[in-house]
Amino acid sequence: MSKFMSERFASLKAYVPGEQPRDKSYIKLNTNESPYPPAPQVIEAVNSREIEDLRLYSDPECKHLREALAKQYDVTPKNVTVGNGSDEILSFAFMAFCSRGVSYPDISYGFYPVFADIHGIPKKEISLQEDFTISAEDYYNAGTAVVIANPNAPTGICLSAADVEKIVKSNPDNVVMIDEAYIDFGGESCIPLISKYDNLLIIQTYSKSRSLAGGRLGYAIGNEELIADLDKLRYSTNPYNVNRLTLAAGQAALEGQAYYDNNNREIICIREYTSNILLGLGFSMTESKANFIFAKHPKLNGKTLYKGLRDRGILVRHFDKPRIEDYVRISIGTREQMDTLLMTLKEMLA
Ligand SMILES: *Cc1c(COP(=O)(O)O)cnc(C)c1O
Repeated sequence: MSKFMSERFASLKAYVPGEQPRDKSYIKLNTNESPYPPAPQVIEAVNSREIEDLRLYSDPECKHLREALAKQYDVTPKNVTVGNGSDEILSFAFMAFCSRGVSYPDISYGFYPVFADIHGIPKKEISLQEDFTISAEDYYNAGTAVVIANPNAPTGICLSAADVEKIVKSNPDNVVMIDEAYIDFGGESCIPLISKYDNLLIIQTYSKSRSLAGGRLGYAIGNEELIADLDKLRYSTNPYNVNRLTLAAGQAALEGQAYYDNNNREIICIREYTSNILLGLGFSMTESKANFIFAKHPKLNGKTLYKGLRDRGILVRHFDKPRIEDYVRISIGTREQMDTLLMTLKEMLA
């Protein structure tokens, strides 16, 4: 650290993203990207005309994309804002709505404590149950803002919309942020609840179910006033936070929704197929409604699994954290990739 770094960031611990190695080609099952390319409409939309237009700034209002998202989710454009990945939106939401602190599960997305720290927000980590489920009651009358990934990461376990509603209802004076990064793989979205509650903010992303992780596009849906607050911070940080190519890609992706729905169904099938074979190999796992499996084996601990797979050209994610160190998180790839994974695990267990 230089002697110039602000004192208040001296002890900040940065988020550590999943590795993106360049040394050789791995079967990459570690960061929950889609194994499928973006929809054909996206590939067509990001054309040379759009690239020539890069000389112009992007639309700070993101008008067309907001309109398209509003239509997709049956809300108005004033209920929607977009960001450079949902991580950026989460950062703005922490900045905007968490002055009384923020509560979230002890095992969840590793970025939440980092956002809290960078914005100087007091953190309240609430333990998951023994079986890694979230007990909704633990968040009633929290006295702080609440953020819950639903389905949760890295467990994949989903809360029902009815449980989310109870949490939202019991916290009328605080914003409840529901991070639905993985909602398209079998969970129930809470977007329909935003017309009923002015304290509910839903955050979604194009990174997982729409094959656009590298495009960096996320969005928030909520009450008009919450969205206006987020936009105030967005305009005060970077009004051009979503670049022209990504705006075009994001809009075109919605026209290709049928393609993605099909991919997501396929990913769910491959998840169930892989889980069944893993069970047969002696693994146990949480009930995932996401595009990954969170699994452990009685004979190989998490670190050994991670290292053994890495040596054999397959990347999965391991978290060096007491309650979950026995587990690995395996993103769902193509059927062929999962067959290679399963064969490799069989060899490692033999
Ligand atoms: C992947 C992920 C995100 C971040 O997505 P981006 O839109 O790529 O920034 C947010 N929340 C959770 C729980 C995630 O797993």
